[in-house]
Amino acid sequence: MHEARTFKAQLAIAAARLKSAGFHKPGREARQLMQHVCSMSASDLIREELSEMDDKARGAFFDLVERRVSGEPFEYLTGVASFYGLDFYCTRETLIPRADSEVVVDEALARLPLGRTARVADLGTGTGCLLIALLKNQPGLSGHAVEKSSAAAAIARKNLIRHRVRSRASITIGSWEDWDGWGDVDLIISNPPYIRTGTIATLDASVRAFEPHDALDGGEDGLEAYRSIISLAAARLKEGAWLVFEIGFDQREAVTGLLEKAGFGSISCGQDHGQRDRVVAA
Ligand code: GLN
Repeated sequence: MHEARTFKAQLAIAAARLKSAGFHKPGREARQLMQHVCSMSASDLIREELSEMDDKARGAFFDLVERRVSGEPFEYLTGVASFYGLDFYCTRETLIPRADSEVVVDEALARLPLGRTARVADLGTGTGCLLIALLKNQPGLSGHAVEKSSAAAAIARKNLIRHRVRSRASITIGSWEDWDGWGDVDLIISNPPYIRTGTIATLDASVRAFEPHDALDGGEDGLEAYRSIISLAAARLKEGAWLVFEIGFDQREAVTGLLEKAGFGSISCGQDHGQRDRVVAA
């Protein structure tokens, strides 16, 4: 046996590489990438540590390690991100689900009538994580996802299937402006693009370089998507329906102002895990 080719030896090389590139959990990331490449569980890998790794797997593994060193988010390398206790497929066509968005799900759940059927639409669904977290937590719910990127919509569809809620949700590929389902829903949920165009350049390098700008760029003042959704909602939503938005930490006043101007009531704001304003409901 060639000792330098064992899983253990490759892990050590990769961890050293990640460590020297400044990553904080080099051993853990190396293991997880290895498990992903070899379709192994954590315990499989422990059991196999002293076996030899074949060249093909080794090549694939170090390709991922180098992509990580170049700053690519870990979730894009494995293609999976966890959100609200569930694992979601994600690709570079979708934003990576963020823990800070979990409060959007909480706020939406709090407004849905328990034990009754209700219908919710997610505008700009991306991976579908917000909608799917709702469907998984409320059995009486049916849902609709609107997504203008067909690549992202394909990921949302895969996630609906992964979580066995595909039969409770429909998908429209297109813009919410052209969507004709507004009058049928009890709640609209959205994490729209809300970064000001001029500040995209100041985002974390890994976000800026790898995540889809279409899902981030909210126009010159970051509010374009809210303006569009709120004016359509004011014209088309049925009486008593809710709007629940994710917002940027500094957008509370601007978004609540738009909602008030459009005649919405019961406006409230909630905070994310870091106590920053993150959700507005009306
Ligand atoms: N919270 C995201 C970020 O900081 C932005 C999400 C959005 O624009 N909807 O990168």
